[in-house]
Amino acid sequence: MSGGRRRFIRFGGQLIGASVLGATAWRIFTGSDPDAVFSQPKGPYVWRINPDKCTFCALCETACVRSPSAVKAVNDQKKCSYCVACYGHIAELDVASELIQSQGVRVCPYDAVKRREYAGGKDGYHIYTIDDAKCTACGKCAKRCNELGTKSMFLIIRPDLCIGCNRCAIAAVCPEDAVEWAHSYPEDDFRGEYELEQSLRGAGAESGAAS
Ligand code: SF4
Ligand code: SF4
Ligand code: SF4
Repeated sequence: MSGGRRRFIRFGGQLIGASVLGATAWRIFTGSDPDAVFSQPKGPYVWRINPDKCTFCALCETACVRSPSAVKAVNDQKKCSYCVACYGHIAELDVASELIQSQGVRVCPYDAVKRREYAGGKDGYHIYTIDDAKCTACGKCAKRCNELGTKSMFLIIRPDLCIGCNRCAIAAVCPEDAVEWAHSYPEDDFRGEYELEQSLRGAGAESGAAS
């Protein structure tokens, strides 16, 4: 190989390396902008939290390179039992329904778990959704729901918030090895759960006040 060709190949390699590093730096830099819109790179694999392994240790709140974290809590409406008093919402379950707003000790420190009457009046069924703008991924609601309830609340890496780091910073510290680079199948795509939550949030808004 001639010296000129070798230099050309070396220069090309350096150029590609610099662009990859530059793109990563840009993604991490802009990843701290809460208004930036991202999505995981298109492809069959995504960073995902295995709900069977996660113990809601709260590291997801701070370990993500994005701030606020790309991780959010969701409530799987197919598993939720729509109780008057929800373990993920209220810490003292014997508080009367009408007093939850004024006296109840809420589990979420940021009031991100929303409760609305759905059917049957104040002692009937209720819908619980997560206000993702307020959720910091502390995991408190999901921890109680998983320990005491139907395990309908859990944490997800939101595909539209995650910037798809080569090595997920949460995966690097997760004590349960719960963050996986996993194949994404349409049937277990949690975006579906998230969208269902959004539509139910709208339905609940018509039938009762949030508390
Ligand atoms: S770091 Fe791991 S165990 Fe802790 S909340 Fe995140 S996924 Fe769950
Ligand atoms: S994960 Fe934490 S911040 Fe998010 S809704 Fe649950 S309790 Fe609130
Ligand atoms: S890959 Fe992990 S650390 Fe990076 S943005 Fe996504 S959740 Fe956060």
